[in-house]
Amino acid sequence: MAGKRLILMGPPGGGKGTQAKRLQDRYGIVQLSTGDMLRAAVAAGSEVGKQAKAVMDAGKLVSDELIIAMIADRIDAPDCANGFILDGFPRTVPQAEALDELLASKGIALDKVIEVAVPDSMLIERITGRFTCAKCGEGYHDKFKQPKTAGVCDVCGGVEFTRRADDNEETVTARLKAYHAQTAPLMPFYKQKGLLEVIDGDRPMDAVTTDLERVLGS
Ligand code: AMP
Repeated sequence: MAGKRLILMGPPGGGKGTQAKRLQDRYGIVQLSTGDMLRAAVAAGSEVGKQAKAVMDAGKLVSDELIIAMIADRIDAPDCANGFILDGFPRTVPQAEALDELLASKGIALDKVIEVAVPDSMLIERITGRFTCAKCGEGYHDKFKQPKTAGVCDVCGGVEFTRRADDNEETVTARLKAYHAQTAPLMPFYKQKGLLEVIDGDRPMDAVTTDLERVLGS
């Protein structure tokens, strides 16, 4: 049986989002990315978006209260009933503790926490080169994965692409710092609970996916 309630952990630019999308398709469980939710809030100009934007642009972490409320609300939606992949959450020990309480109150538990490990030296190049099709969300990279026809999305034929506002070298450095100071302590937290699996993320995407599927089973 596949683990149905998962956390994908790992540094910014380590490939969590790409892998979470693949697992979503493979196992029919929904990807819950707090970063995507925040970017949607910023684009919509909502109150949450207004609060989060400056913090995100600085590469710092949005407040635990705001993030926990957002996830508590989202996890109640019907599409989460079959399971979910948390991508980019939790990012602090208080968020992990709040998640434990939230799941316990619903009588459910996590099946696995998977760390996709990538050394810092690889991350800046991986992040600063990435861009996304504005129409279908397919991810590309200046060096590692260019569209087959320049300027045209391989998947949907779209011709507009976007880059994240926080994917610049200065913000990435701050994001990595936040990761090491605030998120890395979650590895021992989950290891102690017997939930943690570590996967080498410094390999081609397909090899990482194969490893994830090995850990999760059929
Ligand atoms: P991501 O797309 O996961 O790289 O997140 C982009 C940015 O959104 C981060 O640099 C943070 O500013 C914010 N963010 C996303 N998830 C969280 C979280 N769980 N806790 C705090 N801030 C978050």
